[in-house]
Amino acid sequence: MSALAELGLAPVINAAGTVTRLSGGILAPEVRAAMAEAASACFDMLELQAAASREIVAATGAEAGIVTGGASAALLLGAAACLAGLDPVAMNALPAAGERCEFIVSRSQRNMYDRALEVAGGRIVEVGIPDRFSGAGVRDASVGEVAAAIGPRTAAVFWVAQPWSEPSLAEVVRVAHAAGVPVLVDAAAQLPPVANLRGFLDAGADLVAFSGGKAIGGPQASGILAGRRPLVASALLQMLDLDVPDAQFRLPPEFAGNTALPFLPRHGIGRSCKAGKEEVVGLLVALRRFVAEGDAARQARMLARLDAVRAAMGAVPAEIAQGPTPLLLLRCADPAAAAQVEAALRARRVHVNQGRMRDGVLVVHPAALAEADLVPLGQALAAAFASAQKAG
Ligand SMILES: *Cc1c(COP(=O)(O)O)cnc(C)c1O
Repeated sequence: MSALAELGLAPVINAAGTVTRLSGGILAPEVRAAMAEAASACFDMLELQAAASREIVAATGAEAGIVTGGASAALLLGAAACLAGLDPVAMNALPAAGERCEFIVSRSQRNMYDRALEVAGGRIVEVGIPDRFSGAGVRDASVGEVAAAIGPRTAAVFWVAQPWSEPSLAEVVRVAHAAGVPVLVDAAAQLPPVANLRGFLDAGADLVAFSGGKAIGGPQASGILAGRRPLVASALLQMLDLDVPDAQFRLPPEFAGNTALPFLPRHGIGRSCKAGKEEVVGLLVALRRFVAEGDAARQARMLARLDAVRAAMGAVPAEIAQGPTPLLLLRCADPAAAAQVEAALRARRVHVNQGRMRDGVLVVHPAALAEADLVPLGQALAAAFASAQKAG
């Protein structure tokens, strides 16, 4: 009997995307094999993270990188690095807020993931008013407002990456760096395109967080923190088990060695952010595959999935929305009709993306679908639309 059956667990069809609520995506056989290989031996975690840094540097152009337990973990660790630098006294004190504890962020970029900064000991300072929301205004935060908020209490400027984020990263970097303040970027879900692995760092970001379990195709509980070496070294020191005598500890050259470290801190604020060896190795193999496949091949692979779903869907009207990841849009009569179809699908253990349900649109996201899901998904969509039409 399989372990899942023994536990009374059955999978769902996940057409919602690599969302955490539905356990992320499906790992490629090469990634699963690498994780099994890692699981069958023990390693020195410093050597594992040094290898991770070499791979992440090759993929991103960063000075250094580490694998964390997710992008949220990478944000917590990145914040801790901005707060403490390489000062072990400051590391040991977190999450108690020190003098320099503020993270400046455009009010329009606030989201539920930014509490990771507060968990580390940061305080969020909002600037700007996204008055476009009222329908009357045209402005978001201006770079002048960001610059004016920077002061002796500023630990970093926090920037949440979206194609429409304001002010632009380049502008934020200019004023932050002029004041000697780092810029921490949440780019958790900004892949593909592959170019974004480098783009935010090229624009001057000091630290960038990516999810490993989203488009990269790594384990669900993995993430990347990449950027400037002293900050990444600080993040690593605050995540690792440091329960060794001071004199024994050697930070690998990938993280610039022990150079600026007067003494070894205790287990840090990032202990809860740790990635296991399976996650580290799985993520690195997934990252190689993600870069090697490239955007065009990946897009074609995703489109082929959507075509297969459509072919099994019969007469249900649907259209492809092009984008970094192509999507299948199913337009319903109104939001209530969309909710009805969505509920009918869930009753069949099928989950579609509800991000546009307010517009009466259900979205089929191809990233987390198994090949074996495609025909059953198309059939479930046909049946759900038919039953909703009957009921409506
Ligand atoms: C998904 C996401 C996160 C969290 O990523 P995890 O890898 O699940 O921890 C953080 N920020 C944004 C914007 C996200 O989309």
